[in-house]
Amino acid sequence: MARFVPDVATHRWVLITPGRASRPHASISVDETEKPSCVLCLAYQNPTPEQMEKYSLQEIYSLGNIRVIPNKFPITDTHELIIHGPQDSIDIEDFPQTQVEDLLKVYRNRFQVRRERGHVIIFNNRGFLAGGSLQHPHSQLVVIPSQINLEALQLEPIANVVDENQFFTVYCPEFSQWPYEMWLAPKKKGGVYADVADEEIKDLASLLKRLIKVLLIKSEELRKPDKGNYNFYIFPQKDWYLRLIPHFKHRGGLELGTGVSVNEKDPAVVSEELRLLLEKVK
Ligand SMILES: [Zn+2]
Repeated sequence: MARFVPDVATHRWVLITPGRASRPHASISVDETEKPSCVLCLAYQNPTPEQMEKYSLQEIYSLGNIRVIPNKFPITDTHELIIHGPQDSIDIEDFPQTQVEDLLKVYRNRFQVRRERGHVIIFNNRGFLAGGSLQHPHSQLVVIPSQINLEALQLEPIANVVDENQFFTVYCPEFSQWPYEMWLAPKKKGGVYADVADEEIKDLASLLKRLIKVLLIKSEELRKPDKGNYNFYIFPQKDWYLRLIPHFKHRGGLELGTGVSVNEKDPAVVSEELRLLLEKVK
């Protein structure tokens, strides 16, 4: 059974989840030559009656190629898997624009449905080095009880703009903890993601798809063996943003010991590199 454990002095929390150690492919491995049968392919094709009944997901099952199922190895009481599509090897960067929009609409719907239960955090872990235990493209939704204080960053001030469209700005904040991290902030401030409008989703989808392409190109340029490993998450509270973090580095002892991030890339320089790359990506 999962349990939240507080640190008395700092009011930070840790979540101890021994049950998740037994989930499929949960051990750390970068050996991609071994490809076991994919549990999400199976879940995508055959959602069980219990899953259907427990979560009343009929509406979501009909939204394009996206499927939502309860996580068999939940982190908290509410933990959903949002399966991006039927195939193992095709993800956001290769989806048609409408499928990315559908994905973002599913995020909105699940946020709306779950928001009464606590803090709704929607995130995507791609690649083993970014914490992804299953290769099949999927995102996750976890609800953290309201009484648990989050350590999430508030919206950082706009600086080092990479691109913008009608409803969003892409930028590399001065407070960038990771090389090449990018933030997508809506121009309409004060909202939560559950209230994002359809026209905003169009703009967000087009930027997200292009930014992921840019990160993949950048990881090729940097000749990273762990290319294609990244996280993104949607800030769960007011003044929401989407933060995209490539894993071009690992945290070392200094960072683990002090909580001070070391970023060897100046966000101002990075934003210019990314801006030039983005111009080439449709
Ligand atoms: Zn699969």
